[in-house]
Amino acid sequence: MISRTMQQQVNSSSIIRAMFEEGKRLAALYGADNVYDFSLGNPNVEPPAEVKQAIMDILNEENSTTVHGYMNNSGFEDVRGAIAASLNQRFATGFAADNILMTVGAAGGLNVIFKTLLNPEDEVLTFAPFFGEYRNYVQNYQGQLIVVSPNTKDFQPNLEEFKEKISPRTKAVLINSPNNPTGVVYSAETIASLADILRAKQEEYGTVIYLIGDEPYRELAYDQVEVPYLTKYYENTIVGYSYSKSLSLPGERIGYLVIPREAADYENLIAAANIANRILGFVNAPSLFQRVIAKCLDAQVNLDSYNRNRELLYNALVSYGYQCIKPEGAFYLFIKTPLENDLEFCTLAKTKNILIVPGTSFACPGYARIAYCVAYETIERALPGFEALINEVS
Ligand code: PLP
Repeated sequence: MISRTMQQQVNSSSIIRAMFEEGKRLAALYGADNVYDFSLGNPNVEPPAEVKQAIMDILNEENSTTVHGYMNNSGFEDVRGAIAASLNQRFATGFAADNILMTVGAAGGLNVIFKTLLNPEDEVLTFAPFFGEYRNYVQNYQGQLIVVSPNTKDFQPNLEEFKEKISPRTKAVLINSPNNPTGVVYSAETIASLADILRAKQEEYGTVIYLIGDEPYRELAYDQVEVPYLTKYYENTIVGYSYSKSLSLPGERIGYLVIPREAADYENLIAAANIANRILGFVNAPSLFQRVIAKCLDAQVNLDSYNRNRELLYNALVSYGYQCIKPEGAFYLFIKTPLENDLEFCTLAKTKNILIVPGTSFACPGYARIAYCVAYETIERALPGFEALINEVS
């Protein structure tokens, strides 16, 4: 009785989620300590202490009908103002409360912006490898996701193919940096070239092409690498942000969109996005957590913990003979699978109780993603299995 579209989506339901369920099954069989679940990007680092303090202060001190009440669909004005001021201080931008729309995480934000922008058959370009949910988010509004193939040399976007795939129907380009699944940070040079291409194509076709930055991993960047702030490179940019990873709050569903004044059709965009937030049924982002994050704008999760995991895993895997780029951000490592067939390799890994996600789910066969947002000891215990795996297949 369910709709045809949902039937398809049930059939192709996320392989990452299926892995997560498999991890629970194996843990029940072999004990949680003997299962090495690297499948889901669920942060294992605690939220900073400021979060709990803010929750208690708000509940103790603020007016409860305001804290738990409805507000403008875009979110509390003072919270949006505080976020804008914080961005301005960090990135020398010129945002005001009007440029910020509070969302139900990054996923909610992307759905709001696609509902705002897409007519049926409009095209959204993205670069493989990419977060598989993008397909669903674009399909939700009858858009077409057009995929630029991966540049497996360094996993920066393949700009030559990108240029060829832009068409008069291209409404938006969706990029994600630091990237899930590669951990690569798109360089300032890449972003500047991408912006030049977009400007030239807008001119050629007489269209507007929005650049959408999906940035839940912005704060998870190592070795002081710079994550360029997109609005400084291209005027028609919309940034989607989330606190799921930066404050380890994925279950709280809180994030925001930045819609700058210089973006084409700004007034209509912001009005439509506000209504999209409402009519998609979000109505507004969770009210308590809007107020919490306004008090935690300078708080940070313990990045050292992820960094230790990154160093341990990367150095060990490379010493066993695995090929991968050292990630500069997020908490993922993307290995070339020693078996050409990544699905087969991930199935084989399960025999060592290691759960990793095939690159095929990110439109990049021949690779696999290891989410290292786990306990350091889990990685230590899994390493012999990784070593045995590569030895078995080579
Ligand atoms: N975008 C990317 C690239 C992600 O990896 C995720 C979650 O893992 C999301 C969006 C969704 O994030 P949120 O929990 O903020 O909705």
